[in-house]
Amino acid sequence: MSIKNLIVGAGISGAVVARKIAEELGETVLVIDRKDHIAGNIYDYRDAKTGITIHKYGPHIFHTKIKEVWDFLSRFTEWHYFYLKPNAVIEGNSVTLPFNLTTLYEVFSPKMAERIEEKLISKYGYGVKVPILDLKNNDDEDLKFLADYVYEHVFKNYTMKQWGLKPEEIDPSVTARVPVFVSHDNRYFQDKYQGIPLNGYTKMVEKIFDHPNIKMKLNTDYKDINGDFERIIYTGAIDEFFGYKYGELPYRSLVFDVRTINKEYFQKAVVTNYPNEYDFTRITEHKYFLDEKSEKTVISIEYPQVFENGKNERYYPISNPDNQALYEKYKAEQPKNVYFIGRLGDYKYYNMDLAVERALNFFKEEIK
Ligand code: FAD
Ligand code: UDP
Repeated sequence: MSIKNLIVGAGISGAVVARKIAEELGETVLVIDRKDHIAGNIYDYRDAKTGITIHKYGPHIFHTKIKEVWDFLSRFTEWHYFYLKPNAVIEGNSVTLPFNLTTLYEVFSPKMAERIEEKLISKYGYGVKVPILDLKNNDDEDLKFLADYVYEHVFKNYTMKQWGLKPEEIDPSVTARVPVFVSHDNRYFQDKYQGIPLNGYTKMVEKIFDHPNIKMKLNTDYKDINGDFERIIYTGAIDEFFGYKYGELPYRSLVFDVRTINKEYFQKAVVTNYPNEYDFTRITEHKYFLDEKSEKTVISIEYPQVFENGKNERYYPISNPDNQALYEKYKAEQPKNVYFIGRLGDYKYYNMDLAVERALNFFKEEIK
């Protein structure tokens, strides 16, 4: 039997499109991935020694405002309701992140914190998120002091480590992901729907793929595939698809130093950021995600790296006008039966929910 559709990449983007085509069009789909597992960057697994679920490619917390996305995924998983409340170590103290009204009282004297709190509320309003680069454009002396403090202690060095660039050199949408929040709400995200799949991300993705019209081949690279497919949906890197003929699209990569620690808990929160000290950016303690119990604990220490083709993985597209122009140059050559989606295919810093939304919309608008 000939297979109509080839999907390159078994991450969340590939999974959503595979399921929609299999289920709603009743067509056959072959999914390939060069990794030895499904789920792409959201892959998690049970550590044999401790029983703790490990997020292999960094901490993943699902959060969305989009009901359609939440409803779609909820067909394939139950949720462990989870609100990310990370810490950052600033001047030796563990404080609330994102920087908010609670953090003011953790780093400044009560008198000063109160003064700045009043000024923030009167200028921006309670509940408002102010990007750090906006806060820096301030005439008021106290707010200027706050902006400089947060810039120096939270953003500058973290961003230099993470991107190898200063905050003003990266796309403003990136640092705006972690604003100064004029609120006592200590959650990192305020989205209506938030959680971790109760049995892990890999199990959720496995269920999305679990359909008689879907065949899966792991350890298989696109370059080794022969066949006549009516449609190819490519969730790998677009520059690689075209043999890098116009040059490589840059990415940031990461290395995770995973350690088992012989005590029950290592830190107070699931994620602790280290904006200023050390070469790493953050430490994740995995047992917190699903509130798993063990006498031991497993942590991942996250070191940003330059992406080097063949040596490490692509994690973050680097958004700037030059890179976008290079992306567009490749995109303009998209063959008629090939479609690019996903974080690598679209070269976009998608969170999981936006990857799912993109895949659902792609199916509705270009396939159905
Ligand atoms: P991927 O997961 O990258 O899947 C692409 C797949 O294609 C891969 O499995 C790859 O092996 C395969 N592939 C590529 N080329 C080929 C080829 N030539 N042949 C065969 N297979 C190929 N999002 C959130 O919502 N919340 C979070 O807390 C969060 N945390 C994150 C933390 C980190 C460190 C990172 C890097 C990302 C985080 N994300 C988070 C984003 C999330 O990981 C992505 O939105 C999601 O994984 C994108 O899925 P995808 O299917 O588009 O891409
Ligand atoms: N950021 C920072 N300090 C922090 C946390 C974030 O400077 O303690 C900046 C940094 O530039 C980072 C961006 O905000 O890349 C987005 O952070 P987020 O936590 O969303 O990163 P992700 O989880 O996607 O790696």
